[in-house]
Amino acid sequence: MNNSQSIPNEAYKEWNPNLWPPFTQIASSSPPQRAIAGDGAHLILDDGSRLIDAISSWWVTLHGHANQTIGNAIASQASQLEQVIFADFTHPEAERLARRLSNKTGLERLFFSDNGSTAVEVALKIACQWWHNKGEPRHQLIAFEGAYHGDTFGAMAVGERNLFNAPFEPMLFPVNRVPWPSTWWGDEELQMREKVSLERLEKLLEIPTAAVILEPLVQGAGGMSMVRPEFIKEVENRVRQADALLIADEVLTGFGRCGSLFAFQRAGILPDLIALSKGLTGGFLPMGVTMAHENIFAAFVGENPSLTFWHGHSFTANPLGCAAANASLDLLEENPQSFENFESRHLPHLKRLAKHPKVKKPRLTGTIAAFDIKVEGSDGYLNLAGRQLKTQVMKSGVFLRPLGNVIYLLPPLCLNDAQLEQCYAAIRKGLENI
Ligand SMILES: *Cc1c(COP(=O)(O)O)cnc(C)c1O
Repeated sequence: MNNSQSIPNEAYKEWNPNLWPPFTQIASSSPPQRAIAGDGAHLILDDGSRLIDAISSWWVTLHGHANQTIGNAIASQASQLEQVIFADFTHPEAERLARRLSNKTGLERLFFSDNGSTAVEVALKIACQWWHNKGEPRHQLIAFEGAYHGDTFGAMAVGERNLFNAPFEPMLFPVNRVPWPSTWWGDEELQMREKVSLERLEKLLEIPTAAVILEPLVQGAGGMSMVRPEFIKEVENRVRQADALLIADEVLTGFGRCGSLFAFQRAGILPDLIALSKGLTGGFLPMGVTMAHENIFAAFVGENPSLTFWHGHSFTANPLGCAAANASLDLLEENPQSFENFESRHLPHLKRLAKHPKVKKPRLTGTIAAFDIKVEGSDGYLNLAGRQLKTQVMKSGVFLRPLGNVIYLLPPLCLNDAQLEQCYAAIRKGLENI
């Protein structure tokens, strides 16, 4: 790579002169479109055209854009109490949210932060300090190959080391890694891969381990890589035998995305710590939470100040975020079929698509359907096939954001049958033109 190479001026021209877009190399991307409104599953652009948001705007939009219930809850909270310092005060929406999420997850304590990365950072810090507070410090962390846990330093450290975090590699703390035995329809070597993975985990767990962190059922940014619930259960068994903590990063998989309210429930496990964000507020406001078991919390209580979890964010438990989250939970409770039935709605479409000669590794978990485009050369994030398909499906009014040659649908729960058909039809048509 030639680091001194300057980007040709041309690349800048069509871009906003003041914005620095996320996860984007502007020299090789087309400038963003301008969205001015949202309406359920649709984004509405400044030229009046509509696009189905088939990836829930980076996996956050849960019930649909501009949902009235959530919008109203935020508006009414904003005219009541917009923010209060959460170290000296609590407020009704935070208490209600904590009570509800405790009941739903079985983990009694809720710690607020601002996004998915911070929810993961908090989980990692709590896990390490828990061992410290108990007087048996442990520092080994175990994560899975291909994992993505966010972009702050701790979250980067437990994530897969790759192009995205290469500049920081020497500064990331060491983490041991276990292969992720992802599977798909027609996979024949799964048992072998699961065995290799569990053996590696057992080996690593021979050293005292603070925590194992995983994305239950689906690794998102790692390519919508899905594992069997039974595998997650086997991981939990090994973690329990080794007396380590289990952290579930449900930032993506939580709130119905995997067909159950939380993915850990479908896998039949109970983690010690759970990180949640993305769908938490229905996708309306940035907020993260880390759920912790009471026995974890208990080790932080005592006269000695060093037992304290000295961590907090300015906007901890922002009342607007809490009001949005409570409204979103209301909607999930009123209509659990919206996520429970999504898998069976995807099924006939994905079965049809699976027969396409350019489609490989079709896979489905809850609301998330994915496949890889068969490509010449190497797979991976920088592969261009997905980008070509993205351009094609846009012509049919559908917005996708493939991960390299991995194509996936992760739509808002409000997507109706006709819109779902439109997504699959757009993909089928797009595949003919790449
Ligand atoms: C998106 C994501 C994160 C990071 O969340 P941000 O809100 O983007 O910081 C962490 N873990 C998983 C599994 C994610 O998908």
